[in-house]
Amino acid sequence: MQTTIPLDRRQRIDALGYDYGSQPRDLLMTCNLCGSNVFVTLTHRDRYGYPAQASACARCGLVFLNPRMTAAAYGRFYDGVYRPLVSAFHGRLIDARTIQAEQREYAADRAELVRPFLEHSGVTTMLDIGGSTGVVAGHFAKSFGLTGTLIDPAPLELQEARAFGLETITGLVEEHDFDGRRFDLVLICQTVDHLLDVAGTLKRVRELLTPNGSLFIDIVDFRAAYLRNWSVEDAIKIDHPYYLTQDTITAYLRRAGFETVRAAYAADHLHVSYLCRPTQPTPQALPDTIGVAQLFREIRYVQNAPRPS
Ligand SMILES: [Zn+2]
Repeated sequence: MQTTIPLDRRQRIDALGYDYGSQPRDLLMTCNLCGSNVFVTLTHRDRYGYPAQASACARCGLVFLNPRMTAAAYGRFYDGVYRPLVSAFHGRLIDARTIQAEQREYAADRAELVRPFLEHSGVTTMLDIGGSTGVVAGHFAKSFGLTGTLIDPAPLELQEARAFGLETITGLVEEHDFDGRRFDLVLICQTVDHLLDVAGTLKRVRELLTPNGSLFIDIVDFRAAYLRNWSVEDAIKIDHPYYLTQDTITAYLRRAGFETVRAAYAADHLHVSYLCRPTQPTPQALPDTIGVAQLFREIRYVQNAPRPS
């Protein structure tokens, strides 16, 4: 269904004065998951009303913003626009401090999920990628007796993370030189959808893991996001370059050399979490073609059929 943005929300977003249309953007020509170059444009605006287009790869069903802001434009976006924009969208203050209560609950829930796999397994070191204020990494470090490192491009949030006793690195995991260091546990929590290169990051993570290490990663399930709003546009937001599904993240993980040992739907019904172990990469892994066809059919249905009452 085509939804309209409520006037009060529209006014709060306009008041920020963020000019998305004038930001430098790159037109992507190859799919980050499968390398195909046949795309289907799905939408023409995002949930904020910005003229952001989402495309899907016709071959594997990966959904992504295209064109997409450059890394420099995203750097400026995260430095002062992102949190105020999310606050304007929801009509309440959301910043590095206020998100901590929500993250504490999330951390406790996720730690219980992985406890049977981590406890008494000899893990000692952890890297949290895009760990924001460090609430999740701090909780994992305390629960499992780990030495934690957090890498995030947003320096303000790293200040909060240091309070949890975590080593902090300002930067991007794809670019940072870890000088041969390896980690027993890597966390990518509520982060993968924000990355600019999912395939490159997962490949890097595989190299950074110890041979018996574990990766914990979660996604916002794109299907859950559009089904709950009954709107594809409202599931698209400029803060997320990628819109993953269970099928596309599974293919990504297999290509990078990870096998899933546990998956879980979060209590919010929106996120899906995966605990993975390193295995041989399957470089040609793809979602099955029936699943891809069903995704396109479902998107067209949600775009055009009345919302179920
Ligand atoms: Zn593809």
